[in-house]
Amino acid sequence: MAQAKKAVAKTSRKQTTRSAVRSAVKIYQNYIGGKWVPSESGEMFEDLNPADNRDIIGRFPLSTSDDVNRAVNAAQEAFDRWRHTPAPRRAELLFRLGEILIANKDRFAADMTREMGKVLKETGGDVQEAIDCTYYTAGEGRRLHGFTTPAEMPDKFAMCVRQPVGLCGLITPWNFPMAIPSWKLIPALVCGNTVVLKPAEDTPLSTYNLVMACEEAGIPPGVVNLVTGYGETVGAAMTNHPALRLIAFTGSTETGRIVASACAERNAICSLEMGGKNAIIVMDDADIDLAIEGAVWGAFGTSGQRCTASSRLIVHKRVYKQFVSKLVEHVKTLRVGNGADPKTDVGPVINADAVEKIMGYIQIGRNEDGARLACGGKRLSRGDYAHGYFIEPTVFADATADMRIAQEEIFGPVTTVLPTNSLEDAISIANGVRYGLSAAIYTQNVNRAFRAMNELYTGIFYVNASTIGAEVHLPFGGTKATGNGHREAGTQVLDIFSEWKSIYVDFSGKLQRAQIDMIETL
Ligand code: NAD
Repeated sequence: MAQAKKAVAKTSRKQTTRSAVRSAVKIYQNYIGGKWVPSESGEMFEDLNPADNRDIIGRFPLSTSDDVNRAVNAAQEAFDRWRHTPAPRRAELLFRLGEILIANKDRFAADMTREMGKVLKETGGDVQEAIDCTYYTAGEGRRLHGFTTPAEMPDKFAMCVRQPVGLCGLITPWNFPMAIPSWKLIPALVCGNTVVLKPAEDTPLSTYNLVMACEEAGIPPGVVNLVTGYGETVGAAMTNHPALRLIAFTGSTETGRIVASACAERNAICSLEMGGKNAIIVMDDADIDLAIEGAVWGAFGTSGQRCTASSRLIVHKRVYKQFVSKLVEHVKTLRVGNGADPKTDVGPVINADAVEKIMGYIQIGRNEDGARLACGGKRLSRGDYAHGYFIEPTVFADATADMRIAQEEIFGPVTTVLPTNSLEDAISIANGVRYGLSAAIYTQNVNRAFRAMNELYTGIFYVNASTIGAEVHLPFGGTKATGNGHREAGTQVLDIFSEWKSIYVDFSGKLQRAQIDMIETL
């Protein structure tokens, strides 16, 4: 269902650009076995600017399962050599990659704003996250720690080492089009795996830039392979490919379930990073101005299109009125526009399909749920907005926990304020959704902060800060419908991209049977 919608969105975006000038449009290719090659189908799809869909950024291969097969074969051919390359040597190439990303940061950020829409300072942050991830994870090339442990027999040695998983398929979304691919790619490589990478169809250029940088860094042919195209063809071919031992996926919970089922069928490892419905709790002792700054940044940064977006604000009744009125006042000052304009606070949403979904939720909030529309609520489509996908930053107030706008992931510039009369009630509301990615509390009271920290069932938690702002050296991921128990980033990501091998060395020169031969205390 989700894929069908995505494909339709793509088609409709193409239709809107039929009259655009096409001659100068750059043609991009897949990267397979160290060569830039067209797709077997010869067909292309267009990467469009969501702030102005007359602006065609490039044409990318509309790949098929044949291209996935070629990429997997290339990854297979490269695997033995790459896994036998000592990890510190692999890491040296990754450090070089980090330098190339730094040198190109401004250009990559500009490309990303053009294809994805978020404002330049945020796309700079996206590239920076890829840089941070690269440096941090490359350092693992000289660690990749295993451990030794006592054996239960004399003259026997026991240890545990990390081994690469093998060939990995990486499937990524459009909202962090360089950071998220890097979060999978870099640890996969440092652990000695080879990969096939499929970026989201809305943002192939940023991932292309990352892969170009890998080539420039000297990462050998076949180690990194890029195949662009739609999820239901390329993504599905990857998840079903018997040689891809691991699929690392970030995207919606609906698609994640399809990916997980396909992986379960063939016993492939599957790591999933999926949706969120993140809450900020604002207590009556909070610094209200600080809480509002955090709420606005968390709800409307990246036009609300973050898995960690602050889409629910649970506010104590004693400060509720004050909070809502200050929030609305602040939100009304946000300037919506092209992310390339330094004056813009909130860029467009990603495509026509997203506009339809978000406007649908705004209707649900007003009509079906009966929440109070405190500000925003309209699509902007006149003047400078005429050819883009712009929606006013929207605040619903006086909502209840069971409303659809308070339960479902909207993934747009919409947030919902819910009143509460106690910390216990606020925690229960915050936990009462199917997702479990991020949560936050604003309070001056250390007991309340620790109580919330203990009781909120999420993978990430903030005190006196918004629900967004993860750092690469801490594990990232969520509970419930947000994930399946894995964590990216930190050293924890190594547990996705490597497998443990337990090794026993018996130097006694005789048969020693564990659990059977009883050793007398010496
Ligand atoms: P999506 O699920 O539509 O697509 C994600 C990727 O999956 C894309 O590359 C897409 O082409 C591919 N895909 C689609 N159908 C497929 C199929 N049948 N088989 C294999 N692959 C398929 O998600 P999106 O719209 O790109 O991203 C938004 C979602 O991602 C939101 O729900 C957001 O919360 C989530 N997200 C989560 C995190 C996290 O770390 N938890 C981070 C960013 C985004």
